[in-house]
Amino acid sequence: MKHTHETDGMHHGGRRKRDHRSWLIVLLVGIGVTAALFMSVRRQAKSPVGGNQAMAEVPRRYQADRAMRYLQQICQLGPRVTGTREMEQQQRLLEGFFQAQGAAVTFQQFEIRHPETGENVPVSNLVASWFPNRAKRFLLCAHYDTRPFPDSDKRNPKGRFVGANDGGSGVAALMELAHNLRDLPADIGVDIVLFDAEEFVWVQGRDPYFLGSNFFAEQYVSRPPAIGYQAGVLLDMVGDRELKIYYEANSLKYARDVTRGIFETANSLGVDAFVQRSRHRIEDDHIPLNEIARIPTVDLIDFDYPRPGFGAPSYWHTEQDVPANCSGDSLATVVWVVHQWLLEQAEPVKARGN
Ligand SMILES: [Zn+2]
Repeated sequence: MKHTHETDGMHHGGRRKRDHRSWLIVLLVGIGVTAALFMSVRRQAKSPVGGNQAMAEVPRRYQADRAMRYLQQICQLGPRVTGTREMEQQQRLLEGFFQAQGAAVTFQQFEIRHPETGENVPVSNLVASWFPNRAKRFLLCAHYDTRPFPDSDKRNPKGRFVGANDGGSGVAALMELAHNLRDLPADIGVDIVLFDAEEFVWVQGRDPYFLGSNFFAEQYVSRPPAIGYQAGVLLDMVGDRELKIYYEANSLKYARDVTRGIFETANSLGVDAFVQRSRHRIEDDHIPLNEIARIPTVDLIDFDYPRPGFGAPSYWHTEQDVPANCSGDSLATVVWVVHQWLLEQAEPVKARGN
């Protein structure tokens, strides 16, 4: 995805310009964090063993270890650049996996020209459907291609990029979520869609992003399904070990109710990794879904990888974007929130005997 700018005045590692006011903010934030830490330590010390209400524990049905194994399995294929053998291997793996979870799997295929060689490159979105005839359909999506190179890596910008968080985490989370899709409420249907060619970008500024999601959105308009989607949820970079997901500004702009709804669900579950504050504005696959297909779609993304703050390292588009910097707990947390939100979208079952 493309990052346009931060919305809350904090800067990340890539920015060099700092002024005195910023340092004052750092100092104040530092004092605040210290105070908060002190208070949370005191609270934990006071509460009886196991009685700490502040920590939300992910229910066992959302399995962190299993989600992490999916992430490793995908990354073991190697870089999964659009049109490569490794991408094809991933497609076969996922096709079998989602079918085993009860989905009907199809591929939405088209071709593009390789921006470097001019050759034709096959592009293929994966669509896994559960209960497509139900009244309320939801779109859960992620991109499953990886960027050709870790071009933000200062040491080795032409090195090997396996995209554990950026490209792998959304897929692994949706695999874990798929275990819950056989028994959805009676009025709910789900499509998991994995977009190809989100970042088939060989030269930054020259090559277009979001080719798969653009194609999907255009098809949705030109050949609309019998029952359209109520809403969409895009997962991107949800595997960070230090998970913090803020409101993403474009999601608030296009899909305010969906965005707030999901963060409300997280809040009610006590998941503090979801922060009800806007932080980044990001261009991602949700833009064509919102602008072209008019599916109100939220981007759940932790762009601060590993963490926000001055001078913090960034693993984004570097060789450091590996499974070791991701966590199954983060994946399971996101799966929990999205699944619970999905269940909340069902019509309440009427009590019998009234
Ligand atoms: Zn990326």
